[in-house]
Amino acid sequence: VLLSALGIYYIHTFSAGLDQRLYAQAQVPGKLMNAGVVSRALVRDRDALGQLVGEEVYFAVVDQADNQIIYSSDPLLEGKLLDEFHYYATLPGEVPTASGSVVVSRRENRKSYLYVTTPLKSEDGWVGELHMKVSAVNTEWKKRGIAAAFLLGFSLCIAFTTLLSALLIHRMTASRLQDTVRCLKAVEQGQLNIRITRAKSLDELGVLGRGVNHMVNELARRRAEQKHLEAEVQAAMEGAEKASRSKSEFLANMSHEIRTPMNGVLGMAQLIRDTDLSSEQAEYIETISASADNLLKIINNILDLSRIEMGKFDLNIDAVEVPKILDELHAFFTPAVIEKGLDLNVSVPSDLPRIRTDEGTLRQILINLMANAVKFTKKGHVRVDVQCLEKTGSECTLRFCVSDTGIGISKEAQKIIFQEFKQVDGSHTREYGGTGLGLAISKKMVEQLGGRLVVSSEPGKGAEFSFNVTVNMEDESREYESTVPAEKGEDRFNLGVLVVEDNKLNQRVVTKMLEKMGCRIDVAENGLEAIQRLRFGVPEEERPSYDMIFMDIQMPVLDGLKATAMIRAQEGESKHTPIIALTAHAMKGDREKFLDAGMDAYLSKPISRGDLRAVIMQYS
Ligand code: ADP
Repeated sequence: VLLSALGIYYIHTFSAGLDQRLYAQAQVPGKLMNAGVVSRALVRDRDALGQLVGEEVYFAVVDQADNQIIYSSDPLLEGKLLDEFHYYATLPGEVPTASGSVVVSRRENRKSYLYVTTPLKSEDGWVGELHMKVSAVNTEWKKRGIAAAFLLGFSLCIAFTTLLSALLIHRMTASRLQDTVRCLKAVEQGQLNIRITRAKSLDELGVLGRGVNHMVNELARRRAEQKHLEAEVQAAMEGAEKASRSKSEFLANMSHEIRTPMNGVLGMAQLIRDTDLSSEQAEYIETISASADNLLKIINNILDLSRIEMGKFDLNIDAVEVPKILDELHAFFTPAVIEKGLDLNVSVPSDLPRIRTDEGTLRQILINLMANAVKFTKKGHVRVDVQCLEKTGSECTLRFCVSDTGIGISKEAQKIIFQEFKQVDGSHTREYGGTGLGLAISKKMVEQLGGRLVVSSEPGKGAEFSFNVTVNMEDESREYESTVPAEKGEDRFNLGVLVVEDNKLNQRVVTKMLEKMGCRIDVAENGLEAIQRLRFGVPEEERPSYDMIFMDIQMPVLDGLKATAMIRAQEGESKHTPIIALTAHAMKGDREKFLDAGMDAYLSKPISRGDLRAVIMQYS
């Protein structure tokens, strides 16, 4: 703005100077005439006048005091009166000059010109005036030239200033910002070897640059550290995995190796149990069997765990009848629950589909959970519920839930019980036994089946372990018929049954089961007592009438085989009471032995309700 104001001021002054020069120059002919240097008749020669003035003279006249033109550039006007110049001389805009001449500047047809009147006088007292119409075109061009030069200079100046500032801005900020952005983009792409070079200045960009450089240095340092740590962790992990693999392999091998002789020990103990033993020997053998059994369970657990950890736990997927498994488990746990005075409820919907899964694994999980439930419950019940949550296409989701009314588990303890060898507290081990492996294995096994084992419990209020598994259905059209009798509507047999069994627990188990089926039970402790109860000495009408006899094989005083032979001998042809053998372990050839002795069938312990019902239905 300052530059423009100065420029305009100078242009104006310069133009005014030019005008002054032209006016002064235009008065030169008049002054020369007054000085007598040139004749007044010079007005007739416009070119000569033009040379004196420095501009073209369009028109010039000399008149005297009475306005009569005496010389003119147009000869026709000479001798006439001049009015035109007076007219102009009175117009506004006249410029009086120092010498008294009048200058009027006008534009006509876009051309500037002046009317100049210079008073003339001579020594002889003559007065007149020189009137000229003088072109101002040259002066005008000069003015324009000056203005154009100024404009050009001004524009160049502005352009130069703009360029200079752009360069300065670019150098001072833009390029440095670009550097920063480039550096940050590189960092974003993970390159940490780029730094901002111009970061020494004290301005904000310098601070920013130093900050970014510091940040990148820090990142690079941390990345190096992280890489180092990762390498260490990787190495440690590989080491740990290797160690864990060797541990698992070792455990698996050892468990396997120990299992074989253990089976031998168990088998032999059982064989010894079946021989004639004194009661002291029988007790020792029972202890050996029980301890060997426990040891075998631990070994089996360790073997399972190692297999899962080594990833060698292969699932054997096949058609599975869940109710049948639960029926077997019911039979398996019945002695234990009866001994503890608990109720064992198993609830399976009758329309449960046959599924495809690994039967052994599913059974193992349920055994572990039910064993815990029985173990940690002193009174109340243990429940097993199976539900079909949903069926989609060929798949269905089953929910298994084992709950009890036992001691329960605190929230803190719930966090650790699924870890290997973890029990709620040390006193449990002494009171309830166990190794702390059952839940760890069950959890891993449930995961193998595609589910998740969860616990919900409150101390003192029992515990509930449940898991959902989504499995394929075997054949949707064939709905499975449950072999587990529903709580209501169970088959009821109105039979009189004699149970011959020396073992108190077994007595209670069989008695309970039979009672639940509606049978009336008498119990004999051994073969001899059985024969006495049958009272063969009295007439047939007075004898107690038994529809069926369940006979243990191994009994003191008189064993089952001998007792049966004697019963058959006394019965005669008239009546045949079915005698079902109850045997702990059916060996090869046992069946023939039982049948030869006169027995009708045999049931292997543990006895399931299904088996019991089936045999009753067949022989009653
Ligand atoms: P173990 O039964 O051999 O000790 P588990 O892994 O099966 O090992 O169980 C770990 C611990 O979880 C048990 O020692 C017991 O403290 C607790 N626990 C498991 N099931 C129950 C339950 N039904 N009620 C109360 N506590 C339980």
